[in-house]
Amino acid sequence: MRDFSADHRWLSINTATVRRSQGQDLPLPRILDLCAARGIGAVSPWRDQVQAAGLQATARQLRELGLSLSGYCRGGMFPAADAAGLQAAHEDNLRALEEAVTLGAPCLVLVVGGLPGALAGRAAHKDIAGARAQVHEGIARLLEPARAAGMPLAIEPLHPMYAADRACINTLAQALDVCDALDPARSGALGVAVDVYHVWWDPQLQAQIARAGRERLLAFHVCDWLTPTRDLLNDRGMMGDGVIDIPRIRGWVEAQGYAGYSEVEIFSTQDWWLRDAAEVLDTCIARHRSAV
Ligand code: ZN
Repeated sequence: MRDFSADHRWLSINTATVRRSQGQDLPLPRILDLCAARGIGAVSPWRDQVQAAGLQATARQLRELGLSLSGYCRGGMFPAADAAGLQAAHEDNLRALEEAVTLGAPCLVLVVGGLPGALAGRAAHKDIAGARAQVHEGIARLLEPARAAGMPLAIEPLHPMYAADRACINTLAQALDVCDALDPARSGALGVAVDVYHVWWDPQLQAQIARAGRERLLAFHVCDWLTPTRDLLNDRGMMGDGVIDIPRIRGWVEAQGYAGYSEVEIFSTQDWWLRDAAEVLDTCIARHRSAV
């Protein structure tokens, strides 16, 4: 297992972690500057932030600062209530693929979606098995364009508390079932993003990470699970402040040969987004060395 205690060369910052600073929106160009100034080597930006800053301008700034990507957030949201909705989701995912290529991302992260309409507060139906079937079909359809673009797809299982509105793939086993069905040759075109926040509780976690193997482990996301958790979406903790044994999970991932970035992804309306982004980034660096 790699020693992270001496430097932060394998630290990546998911830009949502500092999308707000002292309660104010922080534009992506400023985030990239703050990361580069600290010797942080990689980021994973969100589509809305890139859109606000401009795709080409972001690609140029990344090049100028020498910043790599650890992923691009995100594609997915496959299920829909009708054929037009499915088609719209597919076309949006094709655009996400193109953006990921332009930015030089190593993979496009997929948050697959749940019951159509649930995110807006009004689910169109209660058929979660049907939603999962649409996810399977949606990934199958996206896989060929992704292969053609040379952009791997990383399915991110989300904690079951998000099954209705964000992702009906909730365990690594489920995600790997899709990978095995659609890419049995383990070509590298389809894999998973392991986010400790979503999967730390899973009794099968170690076994499923071993099942994934090197070819399917495309991204590794870290933050911590706070007790109590005050908000289902936006109360993620800084590494070391919660109950997840992050080094143990990183050990399992690296035992399979994963040697990429450890990406910090924290959404925190009540704590970290209220602080100054510089302080948050400095804390990420310190905790990357001591608690990851
Ligand atoms: Zn994540």
